[in-house]
Amino acid sequence: MEFLPLFHNLRGARVLVVGGGEIALRKSRLLADAGAILRVVAPEIGTELRELIDSSGGEQILRGYNEADLNGCVLIIAATDDESLNAQVSSDARARGVPVNVVDAPALCSVIFPAIVDRSPLVIAVSSGGDAPVLARLIRARMESWIPPTYGHLAGLAARFRHQVKKLFPNVQQRRAFWEDVFQGPIADRQLAGQGAEAERLLQAKLDGEPPVASGEVYLVGAGPGDPDLLTFRALRLMQQADVVLYDRLVAPAILELCRRDADRIYVGKKRADHAVPQDQINQQLVDLAKQGKRVVRLKGGDPFIFGRGGEEIEELAAHGIPFQVVPGITAASGCAAYAGIPLTHRDYAQSVRFVTGHLKDGTSDLPWKDLVSPAQTLVFYMGLIGLPIICSELVKHGRSADTPAALIQQGTTSNQRVFTGTLANLPQLVAEHEVHAPTLVIVGEVVTLRDKLKWFEGAQGTV
Ligand code: SAH
Repeated sequence: MEFLPLFHNLRGARVLVVGGGEIALRKSRLLADAGAILRVVAPEIGTELRELIDSSGGEQILRGYNEADLNGCVLIIAATDDESLNAQVSSDARARGVPVNVVDAPALCSVIFPAIVDRSPLVIAVSSGGDAPVLARLIRARMESWIPPTYGHLAGLAARFRHQVKKLFPNVQQRRAFWEDVFQGPIADRQLAGQGAEAERLLQAKLDGEPPVASGEVYLVGAGPGDPDLLTFRALRLMQQADVVLYDRLVAPAILELCRRDADRIYVGKKRADHAVPQDQINQQLVDLAKQGKRVVRLKGGDPFIFGRGGEEIEELAAHGIPFQVVPGITAASGCAAYAGIPLTHRDYAQSVRFVTGHLKDGTSDLPWKDLVSPAQTLVFYMGLIGLPIICSELVKHGRSADTPAALIQQGTTSNQRVFTGTLANLPQLVAEHEVHAPTLVIVGEVVTLRDKLKWFEGAQGTV
């Protein structure tokens, strides 16, 4: 091991930074975050750095470096673009036995800055010993993505109960088992969901020896339009801790694969006009599973609250007092538009966009056609394939021009994505000609022409 990782308590300690430029500023920010008092020496110091020095209660010395500047400092940073000066600072610090860091010169360093994932009080440091800082940063980026931003709050929770737990369980093994249980179960879930008070209540109950209530929970998770890369971090985290997953037809197999391996998978898909599992039965199933103490992920295509009946499902959960979380997803309109190269709004073509259900309940009467014909408005029809001939003819009948550009996007964002463009006049014909099937999104409006202008080609977005 080239360098031993240690965490340095700098609160109230004086640190010397030689240099007043951008890099000195970056290092100084970290030092100030850790509570250090800054002493910065440089002939010129930028405004932002000056403010930082002041707020740290430190001092700025506007001249060249001199050896006596090291007096009283516990750590030295050389951040100038003068190599010989940096080397001088390094050797002076080493002569005094004070740790020194020279930016971008590992050979002159006795300590180096790691890449940091800050979930204070939890801090993760990654280092390549100065050999490949970019690699360390990439690893850091990966960790940033799978450790939720609020993870540090778990450490805070543990800190508040540490003494109590220690007193109750003098034995180390017992304590370890206790905390493992806390950090991997419903108590941690509550804390991560921002319900700190409830997490504390549950932890206290656990310590008081109350029998654990089988407390299941339902996560209504938006799985996006198909490309697994479009999942949110939160969706993925909850999918990986689920006991049961309920999913429907719109959820791509590649996404299902990302759920916890040993989770039970229940298909509750509905086909249009062929309701495989009626909605109220799904609602009941969610309630029953949660009551058995299970963590249930209800995976929905796109966003649960956009034509996803998410509202109905949580209504039922709320009525039974079952805790739930809703995780938004990228809705088909955003995903398909981005992957097909059609901006939904554009200053010159469309000042608004409207998401409309194309599932016509009773013939032609149930859509506000008059509101849909403004030329500066993009329309996005979900579930619009069956009713497409009616949709196109009603729009034209109510005043939208028959040559209004329109697009069909089938299985958008997936490797099977197909896009066909035409006009309100010939869109239904395109469906027949190319045997377009569900799920397909229909976009109507001038913005569709931008696809050609942008010279968009299939796979431009790297579809899976
Ligand atoms: N909650 C979903 C929509 C459910 S309604 C969301 O927010 O996206 C189902 C309709 O969404 C389909 O009939 C189709 O019109 C559209 N849709 C969903 N995923 C799609 C995809 N990958 N490509 C094209 N259309 C899609």
